[in-house]
Amino acid sequence: MNNLQVDFTKPDPSRPLEIRVCNRSIFVDPEWAQDVSPFLTNFFVRELVAGKRHCVEIQRDDITFQDILTMVEVICPTELGMFPKPVDSYNFLSLAKLSKQFIVPRLKSACELYISRMPLDDPKITIDDLSSYLVASYKYGLNRMTKIRLLEGIVGREIKCIDAITLQVKGLSELIHASVKAYQQNELNHFDLTNEIRLRVPCRTCRMEQPNVPLQAVKGELSTTGIPAFVVCSKCKSTICCACVLKPCKKSLDEFAIKFCESFNTSS
Ligand SMILES: [Zn+2]
Ligand SMILES: [Zn+2]
Repeated sequence: MNNLQVDFTKPDPSRPLEIRVCNRSIFVDPEWAQDVSPFLTNFFVRELVAGKRHCVEIQRDDITFQDILTMVEVICPTELGMFPKPVDSYNFLSLAKLSKQFIVPRLKSACELYISRMPLDDPKITIDDLSSYLVASYKYGLNRMTKIRLLEGIVGREIKCIDAITLQVKGLSELIHASVKAYQQNELNHFDLTNEIRLRVPCRTCRMEQPNVPLQAVKGELSTTGIPAFVVCSKCKSTICCACVLKPCKKSLDEFAIKFCESFNTSS
């Protein structure tokens, strides 16, 4: 365990508050509990008035020890101000749920940040993953940017059969279906690509970093068309690598989704 990691299951003078969940203990700094969420503040303050007690118990059937431990690891900084654990593909669903259950804005932001930096073409992230993340982003109230980015990932893979899980959100499977169709009819393309790239901005879609030498073609097959390695879409203002120029445009997709939802809601 390196010095950036903290074992919150071990007591420590800097973390005097003990949280009991399912007969196990997690030790945190009470300051953390004060400002992290109105729900937790109400919950803890009753027990912690003037520091009379140093142990509180969470008894809820829908919360596990692992849930609370992961949440603490993601949102409690270490003494160096580092967060010991990032949101990842394994804990995203549980953390998004907790951010809603406990009303923790910082956790919600961490989940949204994870999606914003997720490579949309990563083969380790399956269509099932993307579908369940998208459903979660609706169910747990993540922001619109997050929903559009996940939809972008699904549409960019041109899926033919839509995961049944999307039926949990009214109109979502219809939106995915219509978006894929529009994408295949070239209605959601990036528009008017320019060379006005900002340095050090990775590709929006695959998150590939720009090479140190700008404008050098990374994908040989596209270099002959005169398109440099990284371009900027005039419509969505995203930086995109040559390999991803044919993927869906965020802004086009967003506009499409707004129009679709308006007509879907009036027709249903
Ligand atoms: Zn675009
Ligand atoms: Zn790319």
